[in-house]
Amino acid sequence: MQNSLLKIGIVGLGLIGGSLAKVLSSKNYTVTGVAYSDSTHEKASKLNIFKSVSNNIEDLNGCNVIFIATPINTINITFQKLNSFISRPCIITDVASIKGDVSDFANKTFSNEMISFIPGHPMAGTEHKGIDNSFEDLFKGCKWVLCPTSPEKKQQVDVLSQIIQETGATVIYANPYQHDIAVALISHMPLLVSMGLIDTINTQEDFVLKELAFYLAASGYRDTTRIACGNSELSYDMLKFNQKNVLKALDMFEEAIHKIRAQLDMPKEDTINKFDEIANLRKQLYSKDGNNIYKGIFNF
Ligand code: NAP
Repeated sequence: MQNSLLKIGIVGLGLIGGSLAKVLSSKNYTVTGVAYSDSTHEKASKLNIFKSVSNNIEDLNGCNVIFIATPINTINITFQKLNSFISRPCIITDVASIKGDVSDFANKTFSNEMISFIPGHPMAGTEHKGIDNSFEDLFKGCKWVLCPTSPEKKQQVDVLSQIIQETGATVIYANPYQHDIAVALISHMPLLVSMGLIDTINTQEDFVLKELAFYLAASGYRDTTRIACGNSELSYDMLKFNQKNVLKALDMFEEAIHKIRAQLDMPKEDTINKFDEIANLRKQLYSKDGNNIYKGIFNF
């Protein structure tokens, strides 16, 4: 089907929803946006990328595909609203950073047979929020996880995957609960660690030492703490909704740190070998321009 014939709805026009609208409209899809605040409605209307921008989610009835890009804690309410009025076949997906609870909410809420829900999560973002910070290339080169829960949705999954690929992302499939354990390890627990690195110095009682440390902090500290300056509401939601997995990941981290700390009392050669092993693994993860090049068992 021609892209322009596919009607796409986006609920929540912030960093992710706005970026999605920009890239999909650049690919000629017909995009309708649903904004939350009047100010975002006004900004979105001026962008000239939407067929229309509305404050009323019911205007999305008739869309072929709907992306929900609102904060995690509002998704359930959005599900209930969509479930109440959708009257034509529609693929609905979300972009929330957690997938287990979202899949559970969906299973409990979507009784409407017109709706095929496929949970999703683009592994892309920045530390900024809002439509002003959205940009067309946000998803270029990223992985976009889909967690289809029933095999009979194959046709809908194919349609959604094709649209997502047009954003420049690569679709990968995962179990929603495994997704949450993995993102706890690579995103949510590191967020806590990053916050902890800042607060370790901030709560120093020795004022001069604190000032000196912050004054000297260069690129290493910058890179290891970058995610601490993100969207605090989003950080809270991610950590709360995924708390169980985040705490398990933190336990694993503490164990790893404990072992690395103990390594300092081992013979020098052993310790250097361990450090080399870690450095080599890190080198395999990213290319020089910062893209994840790790394949492992996903080498296909
Ligand atoms: P954002 O920039 O703050 O955008 C959230 C949007 O949702 C805003 O446009 C906001 O409207 C709207 N909104 C707020 N409360 C709402 C409500 N009660 N009902 C309906 N809409 C509401 O945040 P974001 O980074 O795009 O995050 C959106 C989703 O993307 C979250 O589920 C998050 O987990 C997921 N995600 C984020 C990242 C990331 O790095 N940022 C990465 C992957 C996935 P106003 O503009 O009017 O305030």
